[in-house]
Amino acid sequence: MNNLLVMKFGGTSVGSADRMRVAAGLAAQQAAQRPLAIVVSAMSKITDLLLDTMRHAEAGDAAGMAANLAALRSRHQQACRELLPPSQHEPVLAEIERLVCDFERICGGMAMLSVRPPRSVDEAVATGERLSALLVAAFLNSQGVPARAMDAVDLIVTDAVFGNASPLMAPTREKARTCLLPLLEQGIMPVITGFNAATADGRPTTLGRGGSDFSASILAAALDASELWIWTDVDGIMSADPRLAPDAVVLDEITYAEAAELAYNGAKVLHARTLAPLTDKGIPVWSKNSFAPEKRGTRIVPSSSASTGARAVTSMAKVALVSLEPASPELSGVHVMGRAMDALARVNVEVLGVSSSGYRGNFCFLVREDELERTEEALEGALALEFAHGYVKPPQVDSKVGLLAVVGEGMQGKHGLAGRVFTAISREQVNIIAIAQGASELTITIVVRRDGLEKAVRAVHRECEMGKAQGTTA
Ligand code: ADP
Ligand code: ASP
Ligand code: MG
Repeated sequence: MNNLLVMKFGGTSVGSADRMRVAAGLAAQQAAQRPLAIVVSAMSKITDLLLDTMRHAEAGDAAGMAANLAALRSRHQQACRELLPPSQHEPVLAEIERLVCDFERICGGMAMLSVRPPRSVDEAVATGERLSALLVAAFLNSQGVPARAMDAVDLIVTDAVFGNASPLMAPTREKARTCLLPLLEQGIMPVITGFNAATADGRPTTLGRGGSDFSASILAAALDASELWIWTDVDGIMSADPRLAPDAVVLDEITYAEAAELAYNGAKVLHARTLAPLTDKGIPVWSKNSFAPEKRGTRIVPSSSASTGARAVTSMAKVALVSLEPASPELSGVHVMGRAMDALARVNVEVLGVSSSGYRGNFCFLVREDELERTEEALEGALALEFAHGYVKPPQVDSKVGLLAVVGEGMQGKHGLAGRVFTAISREQVNIIAIAQGASELTITIVVRRDGLEKAVRAVHRECEMGKAQGTTA
């Protein structure tokens, strides 16, 4: 299909009836000119509310559950009443009720058994996306724009890693094309749930928090779209998180690799794996502000000839540094490191950076704080004998650290840049704990004390003159 556009609207972009109206308007404008499929997140804060409800259920807190369910119902019922003329309320309110009751039933099961199995969480947590797809599609239809709400369980096929599944592109391509192309050919706009998917045998999965960006890129690749537009609440991808660095500027253009590094190292504006499905076909992505759609946004392209130095700085506060050291130099540090990494890979812990030093064979690595427990269990299992016999010292965990990453294709060969970055951080009296640089020289990753993280981000942003790099300040 020629010139197909995929758009994704984030939680704030569909966060109320007013925002849904704007989103539908932006979609309708494009749909008048070209085939369009849209992917929607849950209304802002709804996913947190759903997860919280399931925690109440597991803990047997019936009052907490009931209060959350009431909030869930009223937010969507209100949006329905504000969006649609009264004559169209009934079927949509009935569908909202059906979706909320399905969710309530799963929570009831969790409450009865005092468990919260990842499989059931994945089935239940996508309720937010189902509700917003329902509302946006109903509104588009009410405006005379033919649209249909679609559940991505029928479109995206993944592995069975519940909570953080990965797409299987061949079956996804087949399913997505079979279901979506006939609709698009008839001029009907699919309004697809972001965030969720299913295994080949139909078990519901999700793609990780913030995963609607990833859903949209998976579908854009599967449908051979010509572009993907990601609508969010800032003017594009910026040289730093504007909440930390007020002088951050919007980047006009960045490469896939830069965007992926930024996202991977904590820039919430994109889900970390968004660019991966697009690389083969080089589908361009725009990050745009649904609150200021007239602004240009950031274009993310496969590669760029401009060598621009350090482009952006990002950070991640909720991380922990784990250190391991053989107790005697006879035991190979590389061997211990191999076993440790293998154990972490098997339980799907993402290692954000590794740093090692030769002689004593000690090494440290960074993981997300919420994956620390799994990390410790995996190490305990894989190296049980070594710990028991004292061949490897017990792991040391430092949770009071943060990660900062400086990203830019043009950093390669820029002499003295790393030194300037370290000096700028030290000048703020922030201790540098570990440093890692990938072989691509695209990113310098620095671990600092957590209480100095924000200061360090601002210092690096200033030192590298990132605020002057491009056009408009946010
Ligand atoms: P959505 O709900 O639209 O997916 P998110 O909240 O997931 O939006 O992501 C957008 C937010 O990402 C912005 O509001 C901003 O605070 C944050 N952010 C962090 N780093 C950056 C960055 N480098 N550029 C732009 N925004 C960033
Ligand atoms: N609603 C999901 C979340 O909050 C997915 C997304 O917003 O992208 O994580
Ligand atoms: Mg997001």
